[in-house]
Amino acid sequence: MTSITFLGTGGGRFATIYQIRATGGIYINDGARVHLDPGPTALLNMRRLALDPAKTDAVMISHCHPDHYAEAEMLIEGMTRGGFKHAGTVVGSRSVIEGVAGFSPAVSEYHRSIAARIVTATPGEAFDIAGMKVEATPTSHGDPSGVGFRFHTSSGIISYVGDTELTDELAPVHKGCRVLILNVTRPLGSRVPKHLCTEDAGDLAKKVAPEVVILTHFGMKLVHDGVRKQAEFVEDLSGCRTLAAEDLMTVQVGKTIRTARSRGKEIIEEGRGPVDLDA
Ligand SMILES: [Zn+2]
Ligand SMILES: [Zn+2]
Repeated sequence: MTSITFLGTGGGRFATIYQIRATGGIYINDGARVHLDPGPTALLNMRRLALDPAKTDAVMISHCHPDHYAEAEMLIEGMTRGGFKHAGTVVGSRSVIEGVAGFSPAVSEYHRSIAARIVTATPGEAFDIAGMKVEATPTSHGDPSGVGFRFHTSSGIISYVGDTELTDELAPVHKGCRVLILNVTRPLGSRVPKHLCTEDAGDLAKKVAPEVVILTHFGMKLVHDGVRKQAEFVEDLSGCRTLAAEDLMTVQVGKTIRTARSRGKEIIEEGRGPVDLDA
């Protein structure tokens, strides 16, 4: 069994600045524990779900935008027990690890020095996290060195496209996944360059044809227009079961794929808990 927990489902400048949705990234547990794209609220939402940062095997950052890296250094301190134990892997695009024109490294030299291993992710190349194979995939986004990832878990392939616009190369590289996670920044009728909108998500999902599509990284306008409407459009166009992620939602990937309630009791009582999209 593999679990995918959404520590945030917001993305883009304004949804992040105003925390319209949390932006804490995605936590995948397949025995190997990976924290992907930890933006603001990563630590707080880990605490809410009783996830221990010291148990993380890899902090992974797809590109050098703060909705994806803002809390990475604190999580690296968690992974290394405050910096006292060389442990864990930091994975990042070239911009995140080394810096490229216009993008500073997102992780300081000190934080790179305390991790046991640093991986610069390059599209087409694979690496290993605690026994799990991960491939880096191409993107076309503001950060030219940005990547997506394909996780070869014990429950099949989970693909995360990262921040990207729709390109012809995306469908072939993500084909064969069971779960396709799409960062959809813009809603129906409002395409912008360098991001996926709902129509793009539908086209890509149709070509990749996974068991389940999960939409996340919602921009402010998309949240305002309604996330379910976007998921219904993608499902109708692609013929694939499509979920709009909710903050603190967990998706269990086993023989079947289902959503689960979080352990964050306080959050459920506030009515902000995960929604059972099977209901
Ligand atoms: Zn983003
Ligand atoms: Zn971005």
